[in-house]
Amino acid sequence: MIQLPSDFIAQMTSLLGDHEFDEFQKAIEGERITSIRTNERKVTSEVSNATIVPWCSNGFYLDNRPVFTMDPLFHAGCYYAQEASSMFVEQAVRQHWNEMDEEEPLFLDLCAAPGGKSTLLASLLNGKGWLVCNEVMKSRMGILDENITKWGAPNVTVTNNDPKDFGQMNGLFDLILIDAPCSGEGMFRKDDKAIEDWSLDNVQLCSERQRRIVADVFPALKEGGLLLYSTCTYNAEEDEKNVQWIAEKLGAEILEIKTEAYWNVTTQGAGYHFYPHKTKGEGFFLSILKKNTNESHTKIKAPKQISLASKEVTNTCSNWLKHKDVKFLQEGDRIIAVPSQWLEVVLFFKQKLRVLHNALPMGIVKGKDIIPDEALALSWELDQTKFPTIECTWEQAIQYLKKENIQLEDAPKGIVLFCFNGIPLGFGKNLGNRCNNLYPSEWHIRMNAEKEKYTAVIMR
Ligand code: SAM
Repeated sequence: MIQLPSDFIAQMTSLLGDHEFDEFQKAIEGERITSIRTNERKVTSEVSNATIVPWCSNGFYLDNRPVFTMDPLFHAGCYYAQEASSMFVEQAVRQHWNEMDEEEPLFLDLCAAPGGKSTLLASLLNGKGWLVCNEVMKSRMGILDENITKWGAPNVTVTNNDPKDFGQMNGLFDLILIDAPCSGEGMFRKDDKAIEDWSLDNVQLCSERQRRIVADVFPALKEGGLLLYSTCTYNAEEDEKNVQWIAEKLGAEILEIKTEAYWNVTTQGAGYHFYPHKTKGEGFFLSILKKNTNESHTKIKAPKQISLASKEVTNTCSNWLKHKDVKFLQEGDRIIAVPSQWLEVVLFFKQKLRVLHNALPMGIVKGKDIIPDEALALSWELDQTKFPTIECTWEQAIQYLKKENIQLEDAPKGIVLFCFNGIPLGFGKNLGNRCNNLYPSEWHIRMNAEKEKYTAVIMR
């Protein structure tokens, strides 16, 4: 039996009543739920042993929890293991972004690591507009960058900044998502540490920090822009009271999200709660607001000196991509592909923010060659027909993902693209007698390969 803090029991009992609290407690002592969201730009086939998450177009509950590490398509960014309740972000964005005029909007995911909601926003944008995924904690940047790169959206910038740093970008963003650091009540089923760390004092601290974060970034939201505020808690201090404070003190209107009765989402007006005894998922809270205060607009000024790649490099890189209206920036020996219409914005971010990943990294110039980047292999923009492909068995795919060298027979010399079930995993350089594995060292699988542990999550 899970030992819950007495103050938490008192808080939840006053929120739910005695009878419902018992159901809530049973639910958090129950089995963990596994859910995934598929990447429509990479796979459209069915998911094995799954039922749909009703509020998310590509969300699925799995009957069992597979060992994701043993599935090459997990590493290829075909799906993301995401908690089901938080996929509700899709409803808020779909229902209200459609009402906005902006067809090419600028989105900011302020507290983005490890990237679950960022990959959802990238899918909703579906290659339109631009998404900035920001994370303040340096130690969480690696996993954010990895997940964004694997998802493959080319219209993303990943930054490592404090929320305050966005305050200087007045009225720039059409939508800001603040998935705030919180007391973690909604994670009690999954995370014992969240129970240990919980206290009323910590709830208060979190609530104050959340207000600071929102206030710091609020100037960066356009007048009429959308603010999504979410936590994985139930208490009003971090949820309803903060939303009311945003509406009244910062200036915003709380919007409605239409839900189906059978989803069992609970609302007290200022936002939407997911309780584990009512919906199949962890605890989650979401509210969407529309900014209704005036905001001046920071003028985007890109640097005058832009270093574009040579004609030869441009020709080679352009040949590898599906869309051609792209500019190729050269930074040292690194080449980055940026859609022409977003060039100024991307350069502006580079000037103002600590950028880790910008647009689509194409590769590194080495003499007359370009060694293609892993991000290109995983990108929606890759024209796969431009590289000789090596279709791997499961064993070879795992060998590749472990960054072991693979012996290739009858493959052409030069750059080759390793695929599993037709989906790119990454590049290699075939020298004839051996093939250098170009998979990023920091991503390689460390677990022992055991085929019995492999479940094909996506049916191909
Ligand atoms: N949105 C993420 C996702 O869906 O995968 C989860 C984000 S998690 C709930 C909250 C994030 O806020 C953490 O990555 C944490 O490092 C970050 N954070 C912590 N303190 C912060 C602060 N003072 N300002 C902004 N972000 C902060």
